[in-house]
Amino acid sequence: MRLTSPRFNWNMRLQQTADNNPPMKHGDNGLYVRHVQQALIDLSHPLPKSTAKHGSPDGDFGNETKNAVIEFQRKQRATDPDFDVDGIVGEQTMGVFDRLLRTPVTLARIPTSGDLTDSDSNLAQAIINVLEHPRLAEVNFIVQGTHINKTSFDEVRDAMKRGEVTAEQHALPANVSAVYFARDALNRVTGEVLVGANTFVMSSSRINTDSDRAVVVHEATHAFCDIRAFGSDPAGAPFSRDKSETIAHVAQGTFHHILTGGPQVDPLTSDPTLGLNPIFLKADEVARQLLGTRAIQTLTLNELATLVRANRTALGQNNNTNFDGVI
Ligand SMILES: [Zn+2]
Repeated sequence: MRLTSPRFNWNMRLQQTADNNPPMKHGDNGLYVRHVQQALIDLSHPLPKSTAKHGSPDGDFGNETKNAVIEFQRKQRATDPDFDVDGIVGEQTMGVFDRLLRTPVTLARIPTSGDLTDSDSNLAQAIINVLEHPRLAEVNFIVQGTHINKTSFDEVRDAMKRGEVTAEQHALPANVSAVYFARDALNRVTGEVLVGANTFVMSSSRINTDSDRAVVVHEATHAFCDIRAFGSDPAGAPFSRDKSETIAHVAQGTFHHILTGGPQVDPLTSDPTLGLNPIFLKADEVARQLLGTRAIQTLTLNELATLVRANRTALGQNNNTNFDGVI
C-alpha cells in the first residue's frame, strides 16, 4: 500500500512496513518505530514507559508498544471484522495511520552521545566518528566549482549534532550499500517534497572497514552538496544529481586511497571475474592525480563523470531526485 500522508511517506522503512516488506514487530527499533509510537499516542494509546526517558518515543518496539498496537487493532476490528489483531504493524495498521494522521510531525531528537540504545543513534554516532577521522582532513579538492575539504565534513557533522541531518539503520535493496536522502527528495507518486529527508540510511551501524568509511564520506559529500546547493542557489533549482554523484565518488576514492593506498573493492558490484568496479578504479585515478600533483586532469574527471552518468542511467536514477545510492 502506497503511503500518501506527508507525516509518513518520506520514510522508506515506514513504506516497507506498509508493504509488509517486512512489517514492523516486537524487537524492531529506530526512527520509523518512533513514528509509529507517536501515531499510537496521538490516537489515544499513551506509552508512558516508552516516553519516560526522553519525553518522546524511544523507538523500541517492546511489550508496551505491542500491547498498544493490539488495543488499537481491537478498536479497528469493532468496525472491520477482517482487521488482524496480532500486534504487528503492516499494511492494515499502517494504512489506518496514513488515513487518520496527515500532518507532519518532527520528533524531538534523542541525544546521540552517551547512552546509545537505539540503532539509529548508534549509526549517527558511527557516521560522526568517520567525519572526525583525523586523515579526512587530507581530502581537499575543487571539482566543478565545489570545494570539498575538512570544513565541508565539519558542516555535515555539525548538522547531524543539531539533528538537522539524521541517520536510519535498516535493510536496503541488495544492490545498495548506503543512501543519502536529499533535502529536496520528491515523492515518486505525488511529486511533493518529502518531509524529513536529509537522512543517511545504511544497513548496519558497524562502520569498521576502510571501505565502509569511504562509503560514509561519499554520502556525507552528497549531504554537503545538498546543504550548500540550497543555501546558495537563488533559483532554488535542485542540485544536479550527476554532479553530486561525481563529486561524491572523487571524495570516496580519495579518502579510500589515503587510508589504503589503492582503489576500493565494491563488495556489492565487483565480480572477481570482471575485476574492480570501473567507477572506483577511475575515482582512484583521480585520487592519485589529486594526492600527487594536487591537480586533477580534466580528461580523467570527465571520464569519471561519464561512467557515473552511464551507471545512473542504467539504474534508472537519472532525473529522479528521491534516491542517491553509492553504487
Ligand atoms: Zn552517491
